[in-house]
Amino acid sequence: MSTIKEHDLHLFNSLSGEKEAFTPLHSTHVGMYVCGPTVYSDVHLGNVRTFTSFDLVFRYLSHLGYKVRYVRNITDAGHLENDADEGEDKIAKKARLEQIEPMEVVQKYTVGFRDVMRAFNNLPPSIEPTATGHIVEQIELIKAIIKAGMAYEVNGSVYFDVEKYQQEGGDYGQLSGRRIEELIHNTRQLEGQTEKRSPLDFALWKNASDAHIMRWPSPWGIGFPGWHLECSVMSTKYLGDQFDIHGGGMDLKFPHHECEIAQCHAGKGQRPVRYWMHGNMLTLNGKRMSKSTGNTVLPEELLTGKSPHLSKGFSPSVVRFFMMQAHYRSVLDFSDEALKAAEKGFTRLMEALNRLDKLQATGKELDTDLEDWRKRAYAAMDDDFNSPILISVLFEAVPWINSVADRKKEISQAQLDLLRSVIKTFVEDVLGLERPDDAANSDVLDEVMEVLIELRRGARIEKNWALSDAIRDQLAAKGIRLHDAADGSTWTIDG
Ligand code: AMP
Ligand code: ZN
Repeated sequence: MSTIKEHDLHLFNSLSGEKEAFTPLHSTHVGMYVCGPTVYSDVHLGNVRTFTSFDLVFRYLSHLGYKVRYVRNITDAGHLENDADEGEDKIAKKARLEQIEPMEVVQKYTVGFRDVMRAFNNLPPSIEPTATGHIVEQIELIKAIIKAGMAYEVNGSVYFDVEKYQQEGGDYGQLSGRRIEELIHNTRQLEGQTEKRSPLDFALWKNASDAHIMRWPSPWGIGFPGWHLECSVMSTKYLGDQFDIHGGGMDLKFPHHECEIAQCHAGKGQRPVRYWMHGNMLTLNGKRMSKSTGNTVLPEELLTGKSPHLSKGFSPSVVRFFMMQAHYRSVLDFSDEALKAAEKGFTRLMEALNRLDKLQATGKELDTDLEDWRKRAYAAMDDDFNSPILISVLFEAVPWINSVADRKKEISQAQLDLLRSVIKTFVEDVLGLERPDDAANSDVLDEVMEVLIELRRGARIEKNWALSDAIRDQLAAKGIRLHDAADGSTWTIDG
């Protein structure tokens, strides 16, 4: 697609705290960076939610005709325990515990992460760079920040000087809405951090102790890069020193994203991101799903239902639908009941799509303004990617489809084409909802049902009510409902 569809997209910019009209830097191209996973363990459904939220953004922008370069990194070094500047590297620790190479840990969980993303129908990003693949660039950015006078070296480590940055016109704290004085007051003086000039300063480069196995040479000695630095480097390397959208979960706003802004601003002279977008958390029992507390459900447990939080297994499509039923900026609480409700809704929608495939136009118009309906679907997405409103608009089509399928109403060919194209666009392309296999493989079922309906019609002609009722009741017992009309019978599966 070369032209951008006419639209009026607004998105909530965390930096201004307001919904803003979206105007990309280069009219037809969009650069988007999303913080990827730290690959030291299996991703949980909370992580999946954030990546799925940005998959929706990626899909919609692409649908509008933008050429989107979507960069989502893999953190394979530098992310220390407790997201702090001290402690063991998360990946190195796992490698030590499992007695394998750190890169074996990275490989295992990167492959697992990609499998999960595919299962949830998240499209692959355009570029998936790794921190270890960009050590040289990270060292270069540190040099630039030192040159600009906003970082200092102590004992082979380099720290970002937040106070100096503020004096030079920086606005550390703006994104997260925190005030510097409060931050200084609240920052714990962790042991070993005494080499920092201020507790707010953060590591750009850390000197590696002998025990630290992930290490690289640098102008400051053997060490490893700070966690925040990789995202500054990989985003700007592939998207330019200033780019359109940067995303991640809310929990990354501070300090991670705040530090990203400061590093780029200090080393490259401009603030890197025009629109900051933050997805809200998936909670379990009202508490954030999190690796460290063990309050999680893993994708594997979801499929098998083998989790104390689940009574049965659920398909990734149902969970994707469940996630899309909430706005990406709202907290979403995960529960068995909520998933069961989502499953019902999802089945009803998929059922209607199967019936839509088989609909036939007659000459007459459906008494509904489908053009207005189409506009409202776009308006929902243009309003900060409001997928729950979009889904409610799409559901308006279910009774239309059912009444035409049950021959209670008619539809013209032009209307049917419009209906199909809007449904395909939003359900499949934008929301990324896949029809479950059993629906996709429903051809055989269709044929069997045709045979049964024909047998029953014969029975009715012969006034063999016992057989005709037996066919109807036995099908009903299996959840298949027959609908009799003057010109024949149709059927649906109970949702
Ligand atoms: P991590 O691998 O811990 O760096 O997290 C990868 C992504 O998942 C980040 O964007 C986090 O903000 C996000 N994330 C972590 N926990 C949750 C949660 N409970 N709900 C939604 N997103 C989360
Ligand atoms: Zn990041």
